[in-house]
Amino acid sequence: MKRIQLGNTVFEGKNDVYLLDGDRTVLVDAGVALPDVREQLRDGLAAHDLTAADIDDIFLTHWHHDHAGLAGELQAESGATVHVHEDDAALVAGDETVVSAHSDLLLDALGDWNMPEGPREELLDFLDFHDELAGEDVDVTPFVDGDTFDVNGQTFEAVHLPGHAAGLAAFGFDGDEGREAFVGDAILPKYTPNVGGADLRVDSPLAQYVDSLLRLVEMDLERAWPGHRDVIDEPAARALTILDHHRERTENVVGVLEEHGSCDTWTVSAHLFGELENIHILHGPGEAYAHLDHLAHHGVVERDGHEYELTDENVDVDALFPVVESRS
Ligand SMILES: [Zn+2]
Ligand SMILES: [Zn+2]
Repeated sequence: MKRIQLGNTVFEGKNDVYLLDGDRTVLVDAGVALPDVREQLRDGLAAHDLTAADIDDIFLTHWHHDHAGLAGELQAESGATVHVHEDDAALVAGDETVVSAHSDLLLDALGDWNMPEGPREELLDFLDFHDELAGEDVDVTPFVDGDTFDVNGQTFEAVHLPGHAAGLAAFGFDGDEGREAFVGDAILPKYTPNVGGADLRVDSPLAQYVDSLLRLVEMDLERAWPGHRDVIDEPAARALTILDHHRERTENVVGVLEEHGSCDTWTVSAHLFGELENIHILHGPGEAYAHLDHLAHHGVVERDGHEYELTDENVDVDALFPVVESRS
């Protein structure tokens, strides 16, 4: 397996496209649809004596443009089969009804979070540009959790890990020393993948993401190949670190409500993250929302209009998260 790293200044840092060559030429993810990234991907293929026309299959970890953006044009050139989880299939396909319903969800969320006019305008301008990164429509082949694929004699198993995106999926396979997986943005080596703002279709985003982290721990992977940056050598430990990070963030949200009284989502985000730019104008309050929603679901905050108020003076945050023992 070879890795082709692509530039990405818009999202979580450099994107990884994985190339598996053999009888079939297979890519995992496809990078953002920008001219320089397109060239980098072509150069990466050329370094292995391949062209875009040689691609037989593209497996997408999720619909985000920095993962699926170039899939449409690569498919147009190669006739490749593009595999994506059924929950993200319509967005990758560019289905107009679904794409426009998704834009409506975004506008609803900005209202729900009480985002002021200034940042709202800035975000919507940014997202207009972002739409171009989606690239061409794709003729998708949807899969579900547990589906398996033969990839040059190796078996890929789809593992649905919703949270960061509704249809996020990892592809597990047997490596030389044990189980490995391509994990997309389910866990990343450096940042904590955004939950709450990165896909507005996800209900109870934090709870779903926590379940996905636990599933990753159970997969007991030797290695995970993420959608950005470098290989993760201890995926279970990384998943638990991210789980801890969310526990701490929930503590911080409780701290904001203790200090400032009832607050709307935008205000909680401002206390947590300060002033935000570009995609973070979406991801900051999205993250705050995911945590407030988690607290509300457990009955320790109550929502009144846009505002959330603590109903419990001594919130036991640990009780809102699972306790997991690391195997290593
Ligand atoms: Zn993503
Ligand atoms: Zn990403």
